[in-house]
Amino acid sequence: MDAFAQPMDCLRSFDPEMAELACAEYQRQLSTLNLIVSENYASPYALALEGSILANKNAGGYPDSRGVGGCQVVNAIENLAMERIKQLFGCDHVNLQSMSATIANLAVLQALLQPGDTILALGTELGGHMSHGAAENLSGMTYQVVTYGFDPATEQIDLAQVEALAQAHRPKLIICGSGAYPRKTPYREFGSIAKSVGAYLLADIAHPAGLIAAGLLESPVPYADVVTTTTHKTWRGPRGCGVILCRKELAGAIDRAVSPGIQGSPKMDMIAARAVLAKEAATPAFRAYQRQTLANAQALADELSKEGFRLVSGGTDTHLILVDVRSHIASGKEADRVLSSVGLVVNKEPLPFDPLPPEMTSGIRIGTPALTTRGLKEPQFRRIARWMSQALKASHDPARLAQIRQETENLAKQYPLFAEEWLPRETRETSVRNP
Ligand SMILES: *Cc1c(COP(=O)(O)O)cnc(C)c1O
Repeated sequence: MDAFAQPMDCLRSFDPEMAELACAEYQRQLSTLNLIVSENYASPYALALEGSILANKNAGGYPDSRGVGGCQVVNAIENLAMERIKQLFGCDHVNLQSMSATIANLAVLQALLQPGDTILALGTELGGHMSHGAAENLSGMTYQVVTYGFDPATEQIDLAQVEALAQAHRPKLIICGSGAYPRKTPYREFGSIAKSVGAYLLADIAHPAGLIAAGLLESPVPYADVVTTTTHKTWRGPRGCGVILCRKELAGAIDRAVSPGIQGSPKMDMIAARAVLAKEAATPAFRAYQRQTLANAQALADELSKEGFRLVSGGTDTHLILVDVRSHIASGKEADRVLSSVGLVVNKEPLPFDPLPPEMTSGIRIGTPALTTRGLKEPQFRRIARWMSQALKASHDPARLAQIRQETENLAKQYPLFAEEWLPRETRETSVRNP
């Protein structure tokens, strides 16, 4: 089952230096506990296709309009992938060629807007994605950006403010969906605000796509004109797989914006990978994984609260948690450093109305998708919460930190870098705990 070993044996004889580095990363992943919300362990079915001979094919254009010959097989592949993803999310049209969600978002803006048009989006200081209008991103350079924020009392999206800003600025596009929001995004409400001012609604589901595909969180498809995502977060696929879902009236504009608007020929290996990810997302095992991801997030949040941490918005409805670390240590940056040193991998994250600058922050962002894939359940996530608390309190005690590091490594090494359901059936019982 070890998808990693074979190609490495081949590389080692030609480029031992790079093979060494890749193996070092493999060991790092095996021996640490990954709480980074924007990471997961990709499905081996998708990895079997990524980098395969399908990547050799130039297939510029779309299945009904390729620029080169020899596309019979890749046409069937792209059509199958589109059909499965349309079915999974129940939408009219899908574009599978954008090579990331960031590019997918830029393509949507290009399809729907003229330079200088107004976008209403969540402020980047509150977790809005850079492709939603950050000043340093092409989106922010090309369009006027007005930002909405959170209600200070609830630390949740302030819909009254969204509505007032929409009325005042008459944006052509409203964007919702963020990678740092622990609560449900109110797609229906965003949809009616957008409709009331004649704006398009873009819902970016890069984070919750897997939970939505499994039917555990509400889908924005009925309310949004366009939905974008990638596959590498809760969907558990590889990076580099942008997905755009849209109403059929927008299909032509979206397709033209992706290519020739932004990209040249697509990566057919990754389009094929999206097809198997859609097939996986429709299985009971995938739904069970997503349910466990949510249950683990509840256990982690509950134990962190018991350890005295304040959680932004009081908890989570999803796979992610924003933790205010100031009860335990000076800043998110310090917390990141100490937790990394004990093998708990996290990222610092600005909190709503954070008094500390963005390079310090008062918080960290953590989540359960990656470790749930490895097979951890509620008791292990509760253990992780206690280690987090103990390590931050012992930040000046190297001996205690070394002891915690040993404990986290012992736990990590009991779990493989993949999900049990990916193992061939006959080897499951014997090898799941012995990668
Ligand atoms: C992660 C993320 C993206 C970017 O995905 P890439 O495929 O890495 O470009 C876009 N939007 C949101 C909300 C995200 O969280």
